[in-house]
Amino acid sequence: MSADCDALVIGAGPAGSAAAILLAAAGWRVILVEQHAFPRRKVCGECIAAGNLELLDRLGVGAEFRALAGPELRRVGWMNEATTIVADMPPCTTGPYAFGRALGREHLDPLLLARARALGVMVLQPFQARAVTGTVGRYAVEVQARGQRARQLGARILIDAHGSWERGPRMARADARAHERNRPGDLFAFKATYSNAAISPGFLPVLALRGAYGGMVLGEAGRTTLACCIRRDTLAACRAAQPQATAGLSVEAYLRRECSGVRRLLDGAQREGAWLSVGPLRPGVRLGASQGASRGVFRVGNAAGESHPLIGEGISMALQSAALLAAILGAQPAAAFDAERAADAQRRYLSAWTSAFLPRLRLAATYAHLAMRPSLARAAGAVLRRWPGLLVAATRLAGKTRRAQISPLPPPEPA
Ligand SMILES: Cc1cc2nc3c(=O)[nH]c(=O)nc-3n(C[C@H](O)[C@H](O)[C@H](O)COP(=O)(O)OP(=O)(O)OC[C@H]3O[C@@H](n4cnc5c(N)ncnc54)[C@H](O)[C@@H]3O)c2cc1C
Repeated sequence: MSADCDALVIGAGPAGSAAAILLAAAGWRVILVEQHAFPRRKVCGECIAAGNLELLDRLGVGAEFRALAGPELRRVGWMNEATTIVADMPPCTTGPYAFGRALGREHLDPLLLARARALGVMVLQPFQARAVTGTVGRYAVEVQARGQRARQLGARILIDAHGSWERGPRMARADARAHERNRPGDLFAFKATYSNAAISPGFLPVLALRGAYGGMVLGEAGRTTLACCIRRDTLAACRAAQPQATAGLSVEAYLRRECSGVRRLLDGAQREGAWLSVGPLRPGVRLGASQGASRGVFRVGNAAGESHPLIGEGISMALQSAALLAAILGAQPAAAFDAERAADAQRRYLSAWTSAFLPRLRLAATYAHLAMRPSLARAAGAVLRRWPGLLVAATRLAGKTRRAQISPLPPPEPA
């Protein structure tokens, strides 16, 4: 099949749009396929660490992001049952921006997508990528808008940015199987937004509760986001305690019951819109010999690997993985990628991805398990009360002060 584009990107979350922007800027012809109409709300804590704001500038949306986003995140907190510990957020000292900010995904994702469009990316939305066949240089991707006939698009390179908790197109059977096994410790994610919450501007508390963890933050226009992950067995207990309530409301009741800090911050707040939920989440690495890599498909964002949301680094990893990949791919014209060169690019990408993100994934898993076990969380609370500087150190380790690597892209090849 002849190629309709150099790169076809599946999914217009931060990873897909960032990859599309950077490759279009390098002179590639890009098609971006997104199944949902925007703007759409999304389950996410919506915080972006300081080290990524420069990357947003590079993507061409930095000024708009800063104009819309909530206040700088200058304090971090740890909240469990009856304890709230607060410490200063360590600043990012190596780039132009010291503190992160929060912005609703109904704003961030359209901003990035509009930028991609402005750079000439062909956006198919709402279109679902349903199936992929072929190989490097001649992929055929079946895309379909609801109620319309499916059509085939040809692409030289395929970038999978479909996220994690929604199924991607038919190409990785391992993903589909992983979605089917249920375990008591599976995590479901919930999010709601509130007006008039009592959270102080710039405060980012982490919630560490029995069988759940989460966070709260003041985002744009005085709107507070509460996002959390809860174990399957804990969720079942919440629902059993409130059989008439929706899952979201039973989770909210649980958070209020379990955590004095949540009760205090939500006292007098009004929820805006319904609770959103997704899951089960599957934190872990999805790049590897047996999956996308062996087929020559490049994965970015959550499709490549997902960290426990406790550390709020998923958007950062989405943007940064797209930048890593674009720096490797965009250095050559797409036509240069035969199977051998694509395999070499995969190896370089896998190595860059692993050293950039694997330590963060492991650390996030450790924090998450510590936060959800009451005895450990209580002990951690007691230690943090005595030495709040440890909270600062933990925040630093989680990547909040790390400046995103930004490799220069070469100028586009002359046509
Ligand atoms: C509770 C919770 C709190 C979080 N808090 C934070 C936080 O504070 N900070 C942070 O940085 N990260 C946070 N994250 C993580 C963050 O939300 C994700 O890591 C991030 O959204 C990943 O971006 P992505 O572009 O890879 O995927 P997504 O944002 O999931 O985007 C994927 C896109 O692909 C589309 N798609 C899927 N399948 C198809 C298909 N077949 N065809 C076409 N389109 C398709 C989807 O519709 C979607 O728009 C949190 C996550 C959770 C669950």
